[in-house]
Amino acid sequence: MLKVFLVEDETVIREGLRDRIPWEQYGYRFVGEAADGEVALPLIRKTRPDVLITDIKMPFMDGLSLSRIVREEFPKTKILIISGYDDFEYAREAISIGVDQYILKPVTRMSLRKVLQELKEKIEIDPVLHVYNRNAGVERINEYIKSNPESRDYALFVIDIDDFKNINDTYGHLYGDTVIAMVAEMLNKATDDDTIVGRYGGDEFFVFLKSSRIAENADRVVDNVCKINISDDKRITCSVGVADGRIFEEVPDYKALFSKADKALYSTKKNGKAHWEIYNENI
Ligand code: GH3
Ligand code: MG
Repeated sequence: MLKVFLVEDETVIREGLRDRIPWEQYGYRFVGEAADGEVALPLIRKTRPDVLITDIKMPFMDGLSLSRIVREEFPKTKILIISGYDDFEYAREAISIGVDQYILKPVTRMSLRKVLQELKEKIEIDPVLHVYNRNAGVERINEYIKSNPESRDYALFVIDIDDFKNINDTYGHLYGDTVIAMVAEMLNKATDDDTIVGRYGGDEFFVFLKSSRIAENADRVVDNVCKINISDDKRITCSVGVADGRIFEEVPDYKALFSKADKALYSTKKNGKAHWEIYNENI
C-alpha cells in the first residue's frame, strides 16, 4: 500500500476527502492530514508519504512553499495539487517546482481515482524498463500468495545477467544500461500479462509465475535473453534460479521463495551459467 498525506485548510473538504475516498480500494493508506504547510511538514517528515495531496492557498505556509520543501527533501514523493483557482500563474509555478499533478476543485471521486491510479503506476513501475520496482513487485507477489492459500501452483524465478561486469568494462556503463533495458523488454515479451516481472536491483530481475508450467516458461526466459546480440560473436546470457511453490508445506512468503530461488541461482552460476536450475534439497 502506498502512503498518502492530505493538506487542506477547509475542514469540510479535508474531512470529506479523508472519509469518503475509498483509499484502500485505490491502493493507498491514509497516513495523516494537516490544515496548513507548517503543521504538515513535521508530520510529513515522520510519515514519509509516497503521495502528498495539498491545497495551494492556506494560512502560515501555503501549498507551493510546502511543495518546494517536500520536493527538495523527499524527491521521490509525488505531489498532487488541488486548487480552487484556475490560475495560470499557480499552475506555472507548480510545474517549475516539479509538482506531478494538478487538479481543480471540486475534487470528485472519479477525478481523484484517475490521478491516484496514474501516480501509483509512476511510483511502482520503472518508467524506462516497464517492469515493477522491487518493493511494488514483492508486495504484489505477497498479495497473490496470501489470497491463494490453497494453491501452491506458482514459482519465483530470480534472473541474473551473466558476466555483466565484463559488459560494463568492455562497452561502458551506458551500454550496460541499454543491455539492462533490453533484458527487461525480453522478460516482458517472454511472459504473459498475468506474470509479475520486476527488477530486483543491479543486473538482477525476478519473475513470478502464477502457474506451475515452470520448465516451459524458464526455457523461454533463458532463450529470449540469449537472443540479445551485442556483436557478431557476443551475445548476452543469463542464469535463472527457480523456487517452486509446491515444495512448501506452509504458505510461503516472498522471502521464503526468494531464498530458495537464490540458492538455485547460485548453483546455476557455479555450474557454468546460461541455464536455469530449480531448487531441491541437494542443491
Ligand atoms: P555473474 O555472471 O556471476 O553474475 O557476474 P557479473 O559480472 O554479472 O557480476 P554481478 O552480477 O555480481 O555484478 C553486476 C554488476 O552490475 C555490478 C555493477 O557494477 C553493475 N551494475 C549494477 N547496476 C547497474 C546499472 O544500473 N547499470 C549498469 N550499467 N551496471 C550496473
Ligand atoms: Mg550478473
